Amino acid sequence: MLCDQDLNGGHLPQRTVALTFDDGPGPHTRELARFLYENCIQATFFVIGRVAADQSVLLRKMIDWGHRIGNHTWSHPGLVDLALAGGNVVAEVARADDVIRRIAAPPMLLRPPYGSWRSDAPPVNVARLLRDSRRFDDYIGPVMWDIVGEDWTYWERGSSVEQCLLRHVAEIERIGRGIVLLHDSSEDPRLMPGNRTMEMAELLVPVLRSRGFCFATLDEAIEQ
Ligand SMILES: [Zn+2]
Repeated sequence: MLCDQDLNGGHLPQRTVALTFDDGPGPHTRELARFLYENCIQATFFVIGRVAADQSVLLRKMIDWGHRIGNHTWSHPGLVDLALAGGNVVAEVARADDVIRRIAAPPMLLRPPYGSWRSDAPPVNVARLLRDSRRFDDYIGPVMWDIVGEDWTYWERGSSVEQCLLRHVAEIERIGRGIVLLHDSSEDPRLMPGNRTMEMAELLVPVLRSRGFCFATLDEAIEQ
């Protein structure tokens, strides 16, 4: 069911997090997915359809490793703005669904780019637009997040992996539980080569474990 309201992981037990990675697959996604698998962590990757379309071998491997693949639209627009501009919101999600459904089993997961899901003035309800299409009846969403360390801003500025790590550890400690928003690539091709979230995750996982954190799956995080 695609709900009007956001889904997040705020009811997870204290010191429990679910890792999610958006905007891939990118150059380091395979290595990241393998690292998480080897560390017994099931993560969720919200992929951009137009990037994932010719990556079915990689996506299958990620599912073999226990990860979930979610829908992050075909071309990463803000869905509220797209609807206001008269664009086709249903097609944006459906085209990515065509790619993912060949590989991933339902229930399907949707995370809207930028968390853009509804607006009061002018009124836009993306959930209703998608529900009315009857195309996404086996979807769960919108899957949002609880903890944001803004990893992408570190790579945009050329900051170090260590600085990015410190911010993420601090935010995870401060909030204590929930869904963590990370980015294994970028919707902007110019920023893709500078993405170092894989390196950051390789440091983050042992730090969190040493501080007593556990890793949950996204499905556990959004159970109502
Ligand atoms: Zn995104």
